[in-house]
Amino acid sequence: MCANYFHYHFWSSDLCIALLILTRISRMKWSYCRYCGSSLGEQATERRQSVKCPNCSCIDQDYLIVGAGAAIEDNSRLLLIRRLTDPFKGCWNLPAGHVDPDEPPDRAAVREAREETGLECQITSLQGVYFFDDHPKGCGIFIVYRCAAVGGSLRETDEACSPSFFAKYEIPSNLAGGGHSIAIKAWQQSFA
Ligand SMILES: [Zn+2]
Repeated sequence: MCANYFHYHFWSSDLCIALLILTRISRMKWSYCRYCGSSLGEQATERRQSVKCPNCSCIDQDYLIVGAGAAIEDNSRLLLIRRLTDPFKGCWNLPAGHVDPDEPPDRAAVREAREETGLECQITSLQGVYFFDDHPKGCGIFIVYRCAAVGGSLRETDEACSPSFFAKYEIPSNLAGGGHSIAIKAWQQSFA
C-alpha cells in the first residue's frame, strides 16, 4: 500500500511537470522569421506588436484576426447556433468564421452561413464591425452582415447544433466571445 502511494505520487508529479512544459510551449510565440526562417531570438517569445528580423530586416508582425458572420433574420428574429467546439463550447453564436486571405468578407459570411446552417443567404446590409480581445488566438475584428435566407434548408453540422431563431427578448444569456456577444447585443439594441 505504501509502495502504491509513492508510485502514485511519483507519476502524478511527473505528469504535472509534463503539463507545465506543455503549457509553456503552447504560450511561446512563433520565434522564427516567416520570410527567411532566421531565429528572432528572445524578443519574439514575449508579447510584441512587431519584431525586426536581424537577417532580412523584414518586420514580423502580429495581425488582427478577421472574422465574418451572418445575422440571418426572419420575422424580426435572429438565427443563432450553439457551438460544439472550443473556444466558447456550448455558447450561442452567429454563423461565422475566419475570412480566408484571398476572400472578400461578405463572401466569407455567406459561405460560413451555408457551411454551418445549410441556408443560402443574401446580404441585405452591413450590420457592423466589432473589435474583440477575448479570443485565445488573439485580438480581431468581426464583420457582421444582415442577411435573409433565400434557399437551402436549416440543418445541424459538426461545428454547431440547435439552429434556432430568437426574438429580441428571447436571446440566450450564454453568448460566445470573439465579437459574437457584442454583435448579437447590437442586433438586439437595433430594435430599441
Ligand atoms: Zn528574416
